[in-house]
Formats: sequence, C-alpha cells, structure tokens
Amino acid sequence: MDSSETDDTPAVAPPATPRPAAAPPSSLSPSRAADFMNCPLLYRFRVIDRLPEKPSEAATRGTLVHTVLERLFDDPAPVRTVAHARSMVAGEWERLLAAKPELAELFSAENGTEGSAEAGAIAPERLARWLAGTEQLVEQWFTLEDPTRLEPAERELFVQTTLDSGLKLRGIIDRIDVAPTGEVRIVDYKTGKAPRPEYAADALFQMKFYALMLWQLRGSMPRRLQLVYLGSGDVLTYDPTEGDLRAVERKLLALWDAIMQAAETADWRPRPSRLCDWCPHRALCPEFGGTPPPLPLAVVDPAVRDDPRPATDAR
Ligand code: SF4
Repeated sequence: MDSSETDDTPAVAPPATPRPAAAPPSSLSPSRAADFMNCPLLYRFRVIDRLPEKPSEAATRGTLVHTVLERLFDDPAPVRTVAHARSMVAGEWERLLAAKPELAELFSAENGTEGSAEAGAIAPERLARWLAGTEQLVEQWFTLEDPTRLEPAERELFVQTTLDSGLKLRGIIDRIDVAPTGEVRIVDYKTGKAPRPEYAADALFQMKFYALMLWQLRGSMPRRLQLVYLGSGDVLTYDPTEGDLRAVERKLLALWDAIMQAAETADWRPRPSRLCDWCPHRALCPEFGGTPPPLPLAVVDPAVRDDPRPATDAR
C-alpha cells in the first residue's frame, strides 16, 4: 500500500505526555525493511519510539482503494462493473470514518479552503473532490485488469513466517491468484505512479519479500509478481527465480543484523533523501535542525547479540 505524508508538523505528543514504552524490534515487514534501508532514523521513530503519525490524504486514499478492490470480489463476477465499483467508494469511506473518526480532520474546514463550514466539521465540497479522485483511481483499475475474469484465491492475506535463521517475517498481500495449472501470482495495488526504471528494483523488493514468505510457507515458489499502478495506469510484472529469492533472504538477514547493531549501539543515523519531503518526523530530525526524543530504553541485550534469532523470538 502507498504511504506518503505532506504535513511537516510532527505528530508527536507534547513533552508532558507519557511516551509509549519502547519495544525491541521482533520481526520485519516490507514497509519497515524499506524504512531502515531508506533511513535508519525513520525506522527508529516508527519501530522503537513508535511515534504517532497524523493520517494523510494519500495513505487514507490508498486504504480506501484497497478496500474497494478487495470487497468488489464479494460480489459475483457479472456485478463487478466500473459503475458498481465507483458506487462502493462513498459507502466504504463512511465505514472507514466510523472506524477511525480522526480521519474527518483531513477534510475539515480549517484544513481546506471552505471558510463557511463549521470549524472542525467536514467540508463537503473538499470531501466530494477527494472521493471523486478516489473513484477515478478505482475506474483506472478496470483498464488494467478485468475483475469479471478473476477469482482470487486470497485477498488481503496476512502472512507470517520464520526463516531457518530465526528471523520472523510478516506482511499483508493484496491478492493471490492461482491458475488452473496451480501457478501462483502475487498482486499488489499501488495508488501512485509506476517508478522510473532505475527505481523498479525497490518496488520489486517488496514483492520478492512476499514471494519468499509464500515459498517458505507453502513449499513452492510463486510464478509471477505483479504490481498494478493505478496512478499511472501501468502494470509491472516479474517472474522470480530461486536465485532471486535466495538473494532476498540474504539481504534480509544482513538488514536484520544491521538493525540489531543499530539497536545495540543506539546509533540510528538519518539518511537524507528526496523522501524527507514526506517524512512525518522531519521536525525531530537533526538534518533539519530537530532533536530526536531520548531513546526510551536499551532495546537489545548484548547477551543475545550473538543469537541470530530476533530478540523477542520466544521459540
Ligand atoms: S527527515 Fe529524512 S533524514 Fe530525517 S528522519 Fe525523516 S527521512 Fe530520515
């Protein structure tokens, strides 16, 4: 799923508020692995400090689009039309808002331009524009795939596995298709645009991560990985080899080792990049004049440093 943030204001609690207790990292997901690779300090803010983050329009739209594309398959194939999918958007938004009332602030009058709306209340025109943009993304999907010809084997599947080394992996796979021949395809929806070719490897890393988990869990390798970019109307596919997945496994083990080392030494270095523009914790980052909060506690007992298993793996 996509996650971007345009608000520079840190979503941190005021100093007087007790901060949540730190927990040592115990597993890796594709998102957090990407966080550490992009910027160890960002990983720390999210995994060690567990700093809250404000909802963003982009991330919320991603959640809503994913929900519609998943739930559309609850209906029989002939009903899976563009019009029906578009009509689901408003209802799923209401459901999402009921579960997370704080999302209303994204469309409040003070957050937008409609000064006539009551302060804090949802500005209807602002929300309507956002919902229309979301419907367009849903419609775009129909130019890339035909849901009337698909019967997914799995949707929004939570997977978790432990590698032989003891490293625990977890993630949520948007869709798994199984051909009559038994070949498996992993599909992931992106509401953004397809990356330029030089960044395609980063996008595929997440898919290979999923493929490695499925291979580990089911004993056979997925045949195809497919990224569906609704923002640009592109589909990126890749057929992984055993060598690819072995390489990803080695990379994840090296990454975990680096995370454990950073936790042991409390050395979480900022790594500035173009992603800083969307970083929700930029005001706390030394690269931008900020000061990170004190580390809540030492997260790794050096006594377990030589144990290749994650610190909280209870096996
Ligand atoms: S602003 Fe940039 S360098 Fe600083 S924590 Fe965020 S991503 Fe890392």
